[in-house]
Amino acid sequence: MQTKEKVKTHKYGGRERTSNMGEFLKSMYLSGRLTGGEVQEGAAAAGNHTDALCKKLAKAGNTGSHRGNCHRDIMTALDQGCDRPPVYETDIWFQDARTKKRVKKPCHFLLVSETMDHFVGKTNIEDWVGIRDNPHLQSTFDTWCNKVGLNPKDTDIMAMGLWGDSAVISVSESLYIMLANCLSGTHRKRFWLCAFGKKLVCDCGCHGRHTFDSIFKVLQWDLEAFLSGERPKIRDDGVPFSESKRIGDSYRHKAREANKRFRARGGVIQKRGDWSWHKSALGMIGWRGEGATKRCCFKCLANFSNLSFMDFYERALWRQTLLTHEGFLADVEARGGYQSEIFNLPGFTHAMITADLMHCGDLGVLLYLLGIVIWEIAREYGASYSNGQRQLDHVLLMIRMASKALKQKKQPLNHITMSMIRCNAKSSPKLKVKASAARHLLLCMRWVLETFTSLDTPHAQKRFLVVKNFCDMYDSLQNGEGMESMQSATINCRKALILWNELRQEDIDPDNADNWQTRGFFLWKLYPKHHLLQHVLEDQILVSGNPVGHWCYADESEIGAAITQCPTLQYDHLQKSLIKKHRLQNYKTEETA
Ligand SMILES: [Zn+2]
Ligand SMILES: [Zn+2]
Repeated sequence: MQTKEKVKTHKYGGRERTSNMGEFLKSMYLSGRLTGGEVQEGAAAAGNHTDALCKKLAKAGNTGSHRGNCHRDIMTALDQGCDRPPVYETDIWFQDARTKKRVKKPCHFLLVSETMDHFVGKTNIEDWVGIRDNPHLQSTFDTWCNKVGLNPKDTDIMAMGLWGDSAVISVSESLYIMLANCLSGTHRKRFWLCAFGKKLVCDCGCHGRHTFDSIFKVLQWDLEAFLSGERPKIRDDGVPFSESKRIGDSYRHKAREANKRFRARGGVIQKRGDWSWHKSALGMIGWRGEGATKRCCFKCLANFSNLSFMDFYERALWRQTLLTHEGFLADVEARGGYQSEIFNLPGFTHAMITADLMHCGDLGVLLYLLGIVIWEIAREYGASYSNGQRQLDHVLLMIRMASKALKQKKQPLNHITMSMIRCNAKSSPKLKVKASAARHLLLCMRWVLETFTSLDTPHAQKRFLVVKNFCDMYDSLQNGEGMESMQSATINCRKALILWNELRQEDIDPDNADNWQTRGFFLWKLYPKHHLLQHVLEDQILVSGNPVGHWCYADESEIGAAITQCPTLQYDHLQKSLIKKHRLQNYKTEETA
């Protein structure tokens, strides 16, 4: 959901530097920074007739075959230079913007099986297979292979991850995008699968699930082909390729006639995303508390009542209720709940749905922690909600000194205001900053507490230890190696959360003269996100390995790149135009982990 990380440089727009005018215009066009008309104008002005692409682009629109339609001419010109498999078009349950009724509408996909076959063909299969340095993911992969009937020792099997999320394009529209990446081998590139505007998502009362499920069904069909290693004869909707008039289907029919086999086989063993996406698209339990017990976790039965999510000790009762795949399915059935089509992907299990460290750590627990600590220090200097800017400026000064002392490349904060910490006089503190700034600030905060505050009281000591343990947790995850560093990260996380809960107990203690009631709002509040973070560090690490290895930073920058393209496209056609343009982009396959 994080959309603030705006795409600014060629690096993030997926664009490479070039000294060739045609290539330059192409990349500017495909990354959405020039319109069709501007590309034509630029190509004509360059007047470079030794550059074949530039020459073609100059003719787009006015002089091209489709008079007045620059976009189509440019796409035709670029398509001639692209050897990637064509887009796959099929009908998806969307909502008609005008009638608000559920309708089937064409949506474009880049199929996993064909895309992987293409890129493996451009490079070496060795670069795409084999799980490197991750025994936990290896065991997940082995289990998956056994389940779907593959031999994990075969040398042509790729392990894929899926990611999906939405981000805001404008006040009236958001974009949904799904992408895949290869977890085996060394290539860390993201491959777009499909993208569509939020307005198209079915809204019949199904919470969008008609749309998501019909997309997962296309993926099932695609992944079954990928698993078998054989080009399909029949489309996902039952029509044989030989009889289909859809875009690219005669190519598919011919490709199968020429060679039935794909160069690689594989499947999905990980699904990433933030909690709200998992809740809306996959029907996972949310954080608000569902049912009579107010359940608030999709990994176990923890709740707001008898299996408290705020119990972080090793003996916590919720630990007895961790959901296995079978347990999860039984629970869905017992509740009469919704079961997503994602569970029909070959060999896909509940444990593969991973919570993301960036979302529950950097953008979750850390932002609460930073907000609380900054507020407390400012208050110790005499701040109140209505009158505290001078004190906040002082905290900022200390943070800036810390950042310098820690030799950080960039100051993590340029200013602090009360509204960045608390949105109103009643709300609990939460700092509004980006994910990477939050991690840098955490280190500064440890230095500030050690250097400028007294650690004489039990409260001050606990507060310091919460900060210190989270610092150590990130340090072990980001800089440590092997199982031992992951185990110490797990212990740091648990210690921090237990101390946090002790601070919370103080805050709600009626005998404490400085409790929340005298203040009017909570400090050290605990959210289901704190609990989910513990899952990431304790049980998820055993499925996917170090969470830093698959946190969503790279995925978020892809959605950023997709968003920058949207203003030059018609929102009604994003489900076709984005994927079509994306396919034409030059792909750097050398990019490695
Ligand atoms: Zn619906
Ligand atoms: Zn849980």
